[in-house]
Amino acid sequence: MSKWFCLKKKSKKRAKAKNTDTITTTSITPSCSNDTEKLNLTEERPKICADEINTFSFEEKPINIKVKDSNTISTSIPSSFASDLEKLNLTEERLKRYADEADTLYSDTTITSNTENELKTKVTFLREKAISKTLNNIKLSMKVDLCFVLDCTGSMGPFIAAARDCILQVTNFIKHTNPSIELRVGFCGYRDHTDGEGRLLTLDFTDQYGQFTTYLQSVPASGGGDAPEDVLGGLNAAITKMDWKNVTRVLLHIGDYPPHGKNFTDLADSYPKGDPHGLTAENVLEKLQSKNILYFFGKITDATEKMLQIFRGIIGEFPVFDLIGGDPIKLIEKFIKATSTSITYAVSMTSTIGSDSKDMYSLQRKKLDMNPNEPDWIILPLQEGIVMWYPILDTLNELKDPNYFNKSNLFSRSFSFKIASQPFSAGAERYAYFALDMERCPEKKMVIKEYLHVGRSDSFEKYIEAIEISTIASFLSTEFNLIAKGKNLPKVKFLNVKLLRCGTIDFSTRYYTIEPKLHNMEYKRFNANTGVITELRPILEAFVHFTYEYTKGYLVVCDLQGIELTNEFLLTDPAIHCIDSLRFGRTNFGKKGINQLFLANHRCNDICKQLKLKHINNGLSEVVV
Ligand SMILES: [Zn+2]
Repeated sequence: MSKWFCLKKKSKKRAKAKNTDTITTTSITPSCSNDTEKLNLTEERPKICADEINTFSFEEKPINIKVKDSNTISTSIPSSFASDLEKLNLTEERLKRYADEADTLYSDTTITSNTENELKTKVTFLREKAISKTLNNIKLSMKVDLCFVLDCTGSMGPFIAAARDCILQVTNFIKHTNPSIELRVGFCGYRDHTDGEGRLLTLDFTDQYGQFTTYLQSVPASGGGDAPEDVLGGLNAAITKMDWKNVTRVLLHIGDYPPHGKNFTDLADSYPKGDPHGLTAENVLEKLQSKNILYFFGKITDATEKMLQIFRGIIGEFPVFDLIGGDPIKLIEKFIKATSTSITYAVSMTSTIGSDSKDMYSLQRKKLDMNPNEPDWIILPLQEGIVMWYPILDTLNELKDPNYFNKSNLFSRSFSFKIASQPFSAGAERYAYFALDMERCPEKKMVIKEYLHVGRSDSFEKYIEAIEISTIASFLSTEFNLIAKGKNLPKVKFLNVKLLRCGTIDFSTRYYTIEPKLHNMEYKRFNANTGVITELRPILEAFVHFTYEYTKGYLVVCDLQGIELTNEFLLTDPAIHCIDSLRFGRTNFGKKGINQLFLANHRCNDICKQLKLKHINNGLSEVVV
């Protein structure tokens, strides 16, 4: 029997949708020979409607498919798509990619298996080895050296006091949110060339936090002379004189004035040619990079803007914390936040990307090439493509069945859109572009994402996996919101993500994921798939716990990121740890990941209790917030 594709019209009234307009949805089944064998869209309909009434969905307006006559539909779906889909052997492609990804770690292993089962066994072995290695790296990245580099001249008294007083609260906070993190703290103070012996002072790293506090009590805010200070001398001493040993290295620099030199400032300067010892931003920051130290800055005045610009030109983007103004209590709060964020940010980065700062800084440099502004849509060409998605899941069995997510279960329809020529952001895995859904009136803003490295494998398969993860996370969040209903808790929602296939000018086929654009609010990462909690939100940690309990230990959804509204979270790009290591890509750390990153670190909170989730007994006390 020859394989062909069903493109079938659906014209029944929508059961739950917002309006009663006819929606035409295309279902693709690779082997159906007549109408009676085609997928029953009437049964699928309520699922799609549920999908559509999601606040962030695509289908609020009828889909633009041209109807030729009452029985057949012609869509702009090209025949090449049908043939690509028919050719795709999803299981084989996925196994090959997993082998590829694991192979970068074990290049001596060759995959020569013939049968699917043999391939599965070998790939499972490779994946497990890769996971063990990653978990070991994550463990190492939890060891942190944190050095405060602080301007100690005349006006800096309140800031020295805040650094001194914040450290115990920071270590307590870290102990409670991320019990796996081990921290050493150190200090490097700088003044100016006129300050003689008091120009540079250092306290090497220690885990005796009392020592740090006592030392800072003895540091006066004094000296300084002209406006610029010996910033480069301070940074250089911190980088070269301190005993950096731990894998994750954080340098938190706080100062109100820039280094000497005309390129840094127009203010009165005794050394307009720059540092008298020959230090430059370039040679100091190169040492910083070669020692895998991550740079963070606490801003007090606008006088350091030029310096930050020069630093960015050398090492790429880095986080800058606002420490401007406020009373001493507010200032300590800001210090606690800046310090804890630097630590969790750095740990999350080293545990995800690795401790080689070349990789970390190249990601930060990439961000400099981004265009953060929306393009002029009028001049951009209209493009045609096809979007694909899986229907909403109904049961846990469907979730656990890898075969449920096969190509015959994919829905698709044609789609017209515009996309910005440059990305506005880059993560460790993907670029993100502004886009417009042109099928809406008015057009709706979207975000299109593209993997940075697709490798040898068929990218189609990888994008299908991305929507599988998103479909599962959405299903679990809906179930979670149901049990949380009536308890006055914020909702946890995931954006509706679809797969987009389109052609390019050179006729090659490109794949992307596409999702609604989030409101213009601060995008936050709440936790990482490495178990690090970067912004503690009890409801989200309870959700992670729920996904473990609901699936009976089969998986946990993590890497929760997105925006926080008054009574809901809108999340995207989650990761899944699952006992089946042949699902959910390389961010799935398998059963070991569930045990070591979730079960060992999770502290049940009030919401876990309220929702009657079974207490996770790992010897850690409950979290107090
Ligand atoms: Zn819990």
